Amino acid sequence: MRLILLSPPGAGKGTHCAWLTRETGVAHISSGDLLRAEIARGSGLGRRLAEYTGRGALVPDDVMFDLLVPVVVAAERDTGGYLLDGFPRTMPQALRAQEIGREQDLGADAVVYLSAPEPVLVARLLSRAADQGRTDDDPEVIRHRLTVFTEATAPLVDFYRDRGLLLEVDADRPVPEIRLDLRRRLAERGLLSE
Ligand code: AMP
Repeated sequence: MRLILLSPPGAGKGTHCAWLTRETGVAHISSGDLLRAEIARGSGLGRRLAEYTGRGALVPDDVMFDLLVPVVVAAERDTGGYLLDGFPRTMPQALRAQEIGREQDLGADAVVYLSAPEPVLVARLLSRAADQGRTDDDPEVIRHRLTVFTEATAPLVDFYRDRGLLLEVDADRPVPEIRLDLRRRLAERGLLSE
């Protein structure tokens, strides 16, 4: 299964990806985790990336593709698919990803859009900040990340809907309920068993 998870920060991508990976065996690839790993290595590139992630700004597309494409290719080879979490996040990324997907026969089977009202997202991000201490979970950066989502990422919802790939799931519900819904929606497309 090749799946893209598209959702605003705080909608629960991480939680649902962990479950989906267990269910399907395909690799969970989080663009944010890849960036944080590079930053943790303390490389020159990592230091440059931290300037973007620390502000809640998107890192340049070229860097994102350089880091991500080899990981997606390896996931497809080793696990028969991928679960892409946090990518693509802009129209240029979506268009380029579609092109690479076509060229390398790596295109997504479906795109899950986890939606939730903004106050719910803010509350979740603030509580995660208290639990995990992520530096980009402070109130000002959270507001900026949500604005970036609305401006840069939200247009992808229509892009994938128009291509018949979008599965919109209401994420403002208890996790087990969301899971059931996700399973049902993916099963309808023959991507997961009921
Ligand atoms: P996340 O863990 O998905 O919330 O991502 C954390 C941060 O990493 C974001 O606020 C961005 O700064 C950066 N980031 C993650 N994915 C992307 C992407 N696809 N394109 C550009 N920047 C990204």
